[in-house]
Amino acid sequence: MSEQRWIETLYQGYGQSFTVDKLLFEYKTDHQHLMIFENQQFGRVMVLDGVVQTTERDEFVYHEMLTHVPVIAHGNAKRVLIIGGGDGGILREVCRHSSVEHITQVEIDQSVIDMAKEHLPGHSDGAYDDPRANIVIGDGFDFVQQCQETFDVIISDSTDPMGPGEVLFTKDFYAGCQRCLNPGGVLVTQNGVAFMQTDEAANTAKRLTPLFKDWHFYSAAVPTYVGGIMAFAWASDSAQLRQQSLEVIRQRWQATGIKARFYTPELHLAAFSLPQYLLEAIGKA
Ligand code: SAM
Repeated sequence: MSEQRWIETLYQGYGQSFTVDKLLFEYKTDHQHLMIFENQQFGRVMVLDGVVQTTERDEFVYHEMLTHVPVIAHGNAKRVLIIGGGDGGILREVCRHSSVEHITQVEIDQSVIDMAKEHLPGHSDGAYDDPRANIVIGDGFDFVQQCQETFDVIISDSTDPMGPGEVLFTKDFYAGCQRCLNPGGVLVTQNGVAFMQTDEAANTAKRLTPLFKDWHFYSAAVPTYVGGIMAFAWASDSAQLRQQSLEVIRQRWQATGIKARFYTPELHLAAFSLPQYLLEAIGKA
């Protein structure tokens, strides 16, 4: 029998409800409350600390946009760092780029990886066995402060700025990422639903400004993240990366041979065009 559960969306007085058609896993890990269940509309759904993280039905939108936009824009990414991302969706998409030689993923919670492998196998789709992947169980904030390696692309696929994910939205975290980027490298981060979490985008903009020569946001509409477009922060010391022609982006994308379900070169470029309210919030109106 299915049970109606309200899942918090971080916003007071506005929520999201899912029927829990089958509860697959519910457990308090060392870091957070983890729940995975089946829902007739969205398939399997992962929830952390009461907030929906990912669903089988629409995960491709988020994972493709948070991966292919920076990797294709970079054009020669060989070393990629993923922070968080325990469900494996970003790792899967990075692994689809045969030109990437090394991937380090730093996830704080081993249980998220284990349970996602078991209950959301399509998310990683075997990517955790890819010989290019080095999985580190630890805090992404500490990792970027101490890391001696550098990367071409850093992708922060974190929870929202509360609980263990809070540190991944601080100026010191962004500074650590900047330190770990190769020249011409790029950092992208999940930055919440722009309409509902406008302050989050404004705060990130303020923190990135003194650190990176070029920063901006791009977006995608992910049905699960209710309230409008999902914003992704973008930061690099090279302004060229987000100002390339459609022709160049198309050529690079075709060369990968990847068949995507959401990403297209046209969407890649269009995603950087932001609504006026967001431009105002980040001081770029
Ligand atoms: N796609 C989701 C969203 O937009 O809300 C987030 C995906 S979920 C896989 C985020 C992951 O970040 C979780 O697995 C969580 O354990 C991990 N995480 C949270 N704080 C972290 C930290 N400080 N260091 C490393 N990983 C962290």
